[in-house]
Amino acid sequence: MTRVFNFSAGPAALPEPVLRQAAEEMLDWHGSGMSVMEMSHRGKEFIAIHAEAESLLRELMGVPSNYKVLFLQGGAIGENAIVPMNLLRGRSSADYVNTGEWSKKSIKEAKKYCTVNVAASAEAGNFTSVPKQQDWKLDRNAAFVHICSNETIGGVEYHWTPDTGDVPLVADMSSNIMSRPIDVGRYGLIYGGAQKNIGPAGVTVVIVRDDLIGQALPITPSAFDYKQQADNDSMFNTPPTYAIYIAGLVFKWIKAQGGLAAMEQHNRKKAAVLYDYLDATGFYSNPVAREDRSLMNVPFKLRDEKLDEAFLKGAQAHGMIQLKGHRSVGGMRASIYNAMPVAGVQALVAYMKEFEASHG
Ligand SMILES: *Cc1c(COP(=O)(O)O)cnc(C)c1O
Repeated sequence: MTRVFNFSAGPAALPEPVLRQAAEEMLDWHGSGMSVMEMSHRGKEFIAIHAEAESLLRELMGVPSNYKVLFLQGGAIGENAIVPMNLLRGRSSADYVNTGEWSKKSIKEAKKYCTVNVAASAEAGNFTSVPKQQDWKLDRNAAFVHICSNETIGGVEYHWTPDTGDVPLVADMSSNIMSRPIDVGRYGLIYGGAQKNIGPAGVTVVIVRDDLIGQALPITPSAFDYKQQADNDSMFNTPPTYAIYIAGLVFKWIKAQGGLAAMEQHNRKKAAVLYDYLDATGFYSNPVAREDRSLMNVPFKLRDEKLDEAFLKGAQAHGMIQLKGHRSVGGMRASIYNAMPVAGVQALVAYMKEFEASHG
């Protein structure tokens, strides 16, 4: 068996011990005689798996008791519609901060449900920074303020928490959830697809403050009404059971590593290896403002894009895959989520140096 270093932006690499445990438990979970995939979501076995995943997430992220944790379907793109449907609460507009491709998608979808006020935008700088809070034009009457805490494509990340006063802060954290400690209490709602940092595709995590739910628009599908899901422990419809099980194993792995503070150290170390090299060479470059650089997704370009193909081919030959940048920006992108070991980033930088030496 050979495992590659997988730099995919998502679905992304999972911790190897998690995959091994899942393989061991595949045919017979804890003496139940069944695979988790075959279990009733209402049976005692799966209820225990679900409860443990939720309690580990609460413990790791320090989720206050007045927040619900929901395991839903529809992905972050689904949430782009589901959030306004649930959170408008009789208001007619919401504030959005535009930091790149994922913000733009959220804005476009929200416009189907409400008036969108773009409170700040990084467009003038080609989405290479996070707009400073002092330049945001927030509306006191907005239903919520929406941000994308880590732009997976542009590699731009918030390293601070916006202050939105009494207006709930909503964050799409798909690509940096659980990569470091955050103060959940500063947010009204956090959502994210699992397939970047916490598990397989198919489960969407929503963490929402109690007082914000229960006023969904009448058109809201029941399966996407946070109140109905909260009242039914995320089992109003059949939840993505296997994805929740794997996410639970990932949470256990994170806990064994030392929790989110340890994840942050690990992630800072990896990002530094890559950014330090990018800053030291003229052969590759990263366009993002230093203070806003993502610890999770590192886009970079070769000085001569005609070498892109050779670079990717060589990387593949060295057991490093999925380094091609998103089609909207070109170049390269290394996604280095929690599960990427330091050795993977070191191998990448060693290869980049070697490539520079032979082509520079
Ligand atoms: C991947 C990603 C999405 C899309 O998630 P889906 O699960 O495909 O809906 C949305 N936002 C961000 C920030 C992402 O990284």
